[in-house]
Amino acid sequence: MRFKDRVGHTRVNALATRRGFWIAMASLAAFTFVAATEFRRYADSILTVQDEIRRHQTTGSQAALNEIARLNGKVLVAMQTEAISDADYAGIQSALDTLYVRADHFSRRLKSRAPDAVQLRFSQSDELTTEGRATVAAIDALVALMDEALFSADPAEAFRSVELVGAIETARKTSFRYLERTTRMKQELLILQTDKVLFLSRATLVFLGIVTFAGAVSLHMLRLEVLAREEREKAERRADRLAYFDSLTGLANRVQFQDKVDEFLEPDAEGALILIDLDGFKEINDRHGHAAGDAVLKQMARAIRAEAEAADGIAARLGGDEFAVYMPSDDTVFLNEFCLALIARCAQPLDFGGTRILSGVSIGLATTTQVSKTRNRNYDQMMRVADFALYASKAAGRGRFTIYDADLERQMDERRTLLEDLSKALENDELEVFLQPKVLMETGQVLGFEALVRWRRNGTLLNPAQFITAAEDSNRIREIDAYVLDHAIELVADWNRRHRTAFHVSVNLSGRHFVSRNSLPFVADALTRHGFAPELLTLEITETVQLSSWDIAQETVAELKSLGCRISIDDFGTGYSSLIYLRTISANELKIDKSLIDEIEESDEARFILDAVLDLAESLKLDVVVEGIEREEQRAFLHHLGCKVGRGYLFGRPLAAAEALADATYSKATYKLLAAGQ
Ligand code: C2E
Ligand code: MG
Ligand code: MG
Repeated sequence: MRFKDRVGHTRVNALATRRGFWIAMASLAAFTFVAATEFRRYADSILTVQDEIRRHQTTGSQAALNEIARLNGKVLVAMQTEAISDADYAGIQSALDTLYVRADHFSRRLKSRAPDAVQLRFSQSDELTTEGRATVAAIDALVALMDEALFSADPAEAFRSVELVGAIETARKTSFRYLERTTRMKQELLILQTDKVLFLSRATLVFLGIVTFAGAVSLHMLRLEVLAREEREKAERRADRLAYFDSLTGLANRVQFQDKVDEFLEPDAEGALILIDLDGFKEINDRHGHAAGDAVLKQMARAIRAEAEAADGIAARLGGDEFAVYMPSDDTVFLNEFCLALIARCAQPLDFGGTRILSGVSIGLATTTQVSKTRNRNYDQMMRVADFALYASKAAGRGRFTIYDADLERQMDERRTLLEDLSKALENDELEVFLQPKVLMETGQVLGFEALVRWRRNGTLLNPAQFITAAEDSNRIREIDAYVLDHAIELVADWNRRHRTAFHVSVNLSGRHFVSRNSLPFVADALTRHGFAPELLTLEITETVQLSSWDIAQETVAELKSLGCRISIDDFGTGYSSLIYLRTISANELKIDKSLIDEIEESDEARFILDAVLDLAESLKLDVVVEGIEREEQRAFLHHLGCKVGRGYLFGRPLAAAEALADATYSKATYKLLAAGQ
């Protein structure tokens, strides 16, 4: 999956939150309550309707009974009197009519639905039907007898008949029994229905309870699942961060950076890839510890991100102390400004637990326009090219930026072939040792020589300036120094032996030897192999390399001194931190650089500095050697100041060893000749 699809999507499911869960539960409970109340109301209304029916039906049967009672009353009155009044007659007739209608009604009802409706449920339903039929039959019989009595010749007499009285009694009894039974049956039905309703409402409540519980359980499970999914997504996002971001600084990492640069590098888009490397990061780690190193990286990351984002660029940490920015512009004026601002910002010191840590950055840029001229402008090529430019910045002395162009690449190619050739030069014995005399300024007497390397490359003689820096960067310098030291000692030792001279020799050692322990076993080895007196050997240390560990440098110097050699600080006043050198390396000699001598006649400042350096050397009991004396005036002046030993074209140029040794021995040194001529 591509980065942009994955990062920044924070979908939050409401159910996943506690609040969402409780809201769901509360709604379910509210629903259950409303449903139960509604059901209760429904059940109540059924009960009311049932009650109504019961009341009506009972009233109906009751009415029949009342009629029979009324009839009974009238008949009893008729039985006791001789004659029936007209009113009684009419009353009996109307009661009979009503009773007849009732009986008819009963009979129909019995025949139709009432018995069948209850038959299924009640054991007494058959009995009830029989009872009902008996009632109807009794009333029918009564109505028939009454009819007969009413229309007989002597109704009063007929009413008094035992038969009629018995019929009335039978009708009354059966009616009453039927009423009783109906009422009981209705009550039973009612209880049954009420039970049923209650059962149903209870069942519903239980059901709703179960639903609620199941709902709660499933909601809970859902919530757990959502939480688990969120956790999973979080873990995925964390994995994404690891895959796409640098964990220390939070900047994009190499993978993400490449993705984005690929997107940016459309066929005609303009842009610049900027590589940023911390200067001396290893030294910071060594000197102040890794926590300090991390703090520096974080500070740099903040600075780089701020500068990049202010200019619509993307910042990334590619690893170690290497950062990168992609800028969607290849305008060199803008890029110049950007780099200058970045360098200035990164040079601000960091306060780390009370220690001030100074660092800085070197920058290499590849612009799409320049890259397109020589190659495909894809990520790899842009990177490669920016790396060239970065390398050039570092080589030029750090704290700088370089914009790649074809010229730079040509130089880099030359440098590469130079290094390849250099390794072959060592194998093929193409290096030569030249010697330059070191003389007593007063007399011009040659005390010894400085060994200076030369490289005969394809027939041309190359000076160190043309290959030493490359050799230092590639660490080839170790082999070169060992070679020069060995040959110089061999040559001078051999000469001294054969010509009974006591020339001493100075050999240059690169600062590279002083960054790790036990890097100089070849010194002792050469001394013993060639039987050379150690006190005749001076080792010159230049400040071209910033020493990372003063402890190691100090130890190494002590080892060399314990062999009996002399130590000289070369090019004093031009390097990184001369006074620290002076304090740390307990040298025997100080070599004052040519640049100071060049100005000695015109510049008061140069003279003051020289004076101060001479004082310093005297108090530290250091011998002083002055370099680069080209003219007699300089010699006279320096001699007048108290400088005793010097070196320079005035006394002799560096020459092939045999020639230089012969010149010195047979008093052909240029200066001597000049002096003799004076
Ligand atoms: P250095 O050790 O300070 O050597 C002095 C340089 O100044 C030599 O240049 C020498 O030729 C030059 N020089 C001496 N007197 C005069 C003068 O009067 N006028 C002018 N213009 N130049 C003068 P060279 O031989 O080109 O060496 C340059 C530097 O290369 C040396 O500076 C030294 O730092 C380095 N180097 C030379 N040989 C070796 C070596 O074998 N190993 C290492 N590590 N560095 C070396
Ligand atoms: Mg030197
Ligand atoms: Mg020098």
